[in-house]
Amino acid sequence: MNAGPWLSVPPPGYGGIENVIATLVPELRRLGVRVVLASVGSSTLPVDEQISVFADGQFAALQRPYNQVCGIAQAHLAGVVRELHSRDDIDLVHDHVEAVGLATLAAMGPAGPPTLHTLHWDLAKHPALYGSLDGGDRVRVNGVSASQLARAPLALREHSVGHVHLSTPLAVDADRQPLPDKGEHLLILGRINPGKGQDVGARLAHRVGVPLVLAGPVGPYHRPADLAAAGDEARQNPDVRFFLDEVAPHVDGDLVRWVGTVAGQERDDLLASARASLFPLRWEEPGGTAVVESLALGTPVVATARGCLPELIEHGRTGLLTTDEEELDDLVLAAELLDPDECRRVAAQRFTPAVMAQRYVELYERVRQSASAP
Ligand code: UDP
Repeated sequence: MNAGPWLSVPPPGYGGIENVIATLVPELRRLGVRVVLASVGSSTLPVDEQISVFADGQFAALQRPYNQVCGIAQAHLAGVVRELHSRDDIDLVHDHVEAVGLATLAAMGPAGPPTLHTLHWDLAKHPALYGSLDGGDRVRVNGVSASQLARAPLALREHSVGHVHLSTPLAVDADRQPLPDKGEHLLILGRINPGKGQDVGARLAHRVGVPLVLAGPVGPYHRPADLAAAGDEARQNPDVRFFLDEVAPHVDGDLVRWVGTVAGQERDDLLASARASLFPLRWEEPGGTAVVESLALGTPVVATARGCLPELIEHGRTGLLTTDEEELDDLVLAAELLDPDECRRVAAQRFTPAVMAQRYVELYERVRQSASAP
């Protein structure tokens, strides 16, 4: 399982890919899969063996120029490839390192192990990121939603074995875990970023007079105090500029609040007590972990019908979707008609870690078969 050099697994707070891996690996091991994790030394996820090049996550370095970012990923991958050359007990590599990981593992040629690379991003706008893949039948990709795959460059679609929806350990039978009472607030949980549409949500909150909590990091800043202390230099980051210019003018600390990154019980309580989760998306959301987390905690989803949202949300049952941003105002108010327990029941059927792991085991088998086909 190649997690990459950016964050420890599980991640300290924000960390979409690392959360997926932290959710998947325990279920795989329960199914009898032996897991070697290539990550950073500070990862604490129980595995059978760990390979680390860096002691700690290099997340902060993601703000550096692109070639330096790739250099860090390459250094991590060089360690992984060295290990793969030196042993023959790894039946398959499940790779999560955007672009660079797949290219590097494909370049090992026919002698390399079968490889499944999970796409985590919306790739339609980055057709050149992957280029052509020369790993032959040994290298395959999967998406995290059908819509993400459909938008992926042809070179990737040609190597696809299908999609696996994201899941959450929060998806349990409704009677196993009582939830807090619902409050008044709406929640947008996620990175503050134009694609996630926090500016749309903030304006909506003022129009309809419903409290809105924005939770998530702004660029590398996890707490409002850290961003305030960073001064003008912080504006070099595009997400910081977006927040300061488009969102912050509507953050009054009363009706609309930015609470920074939330984690653990605080995050779960904020999500479970929300009247609805809002996703006023401006990009094609590829996988939507926060969407399935919301359902698992009995919070209906109100969203623009972009990316994977129509696959994850049943309109009128677990959420309300629209293609018209202006309709969101009405949908936010109508969300209280949806049944929180129904959201949880659907999540407990569709989005458990066990469902996800079972599906990956099937895909691993397909990848191994196509790699060994004459
Ligand atoms: N997250 C969190 N705290 C925050 C903001 C986000 O724990 O303050 C988590 C969120 O619960 C989810 C992940 O970060 O598990 C974000 O994944 P998602 O697929 O929703 O969005 P991405 O950032 O990968 O586009």
